[in-house]
Amino acid sequence: MLNIITLPVGQLKANCYLVYEENASDCIIIDPGDEADFIMQKINDYGLTLVGIVATHAHFDHIKGVIELKWAFNIPFYLHAKDQALLAHYRRSAMYFTNYDPGPPPIPDVYLKDKDTIGQGVSEFKVIQTPGHTPGSICLYNKKEGIIFTGDTLFAGGGVGRTDHSYSNPLNLGKSIQKILTLPDNTIILSGHGEATTVLNEKEYHLI
Ligand SMILES: [Zn+2]
Ligand SMILES: [Zn+2]
Repeated sequence: MLNIITLPVGQLKANCYLVYEENASDCIIIDPGDEADFIMQKINDYGLTLVGIVATHAHFDHIKGVIELKWAFNIPFYLHAKDQALLAHYRRSAMYFTNYDPGPPPIPDVYLKDKDTIGQGVSEFKVIQTPGHTPGSICLYNKKEGIIFTGDTLFAGGGVGRTDHSYSNPLNLGKSIQKILTLPDNTIILSGHGEATTVLNEKEYHLI
């Protein structure tokens, strides 16, 4: 049984997720977007051992806490290769949205690609490439538990990721959403912002 702790962090309230198996301590963290001290406190409170950091995409509100967590725990940071170029925009866009200079971007240790699996010590997650919001956006799918982390590709209540960035692609976003909504109806969707939902609920909002 998988345990998931949701921590909305930062000014943009991005959902940071701590994921670990019941009765085990190894934990992966998805999208530590900010407030690294608060996240570390939670990791200690729950007695967890952080083994890896995964970002659904390279926007600053999903990775701003990465550098501090890497320093503290000396663990690898996973990102899809196609979002590598976005790291060049990281500092400027963080300053634009938050008036705060986060310093240089974190450097990924492992570049992910479609169908990779991650989750050493934790129930395995499959990487599903879901470009559109960004070229290297991914979802993380655990078939056994019926859970998918969708980042900023899909949100509860019919919301979809922004595609007004120069590197975004609305057509690809549409295809990526189709991919998510062909998963079993009872799959739980955990998004990059806002509430959890299910594939069945979201099908109401999209033509598939
Ligand atoms: Zn984003
Ligand atoms: Zn976001």
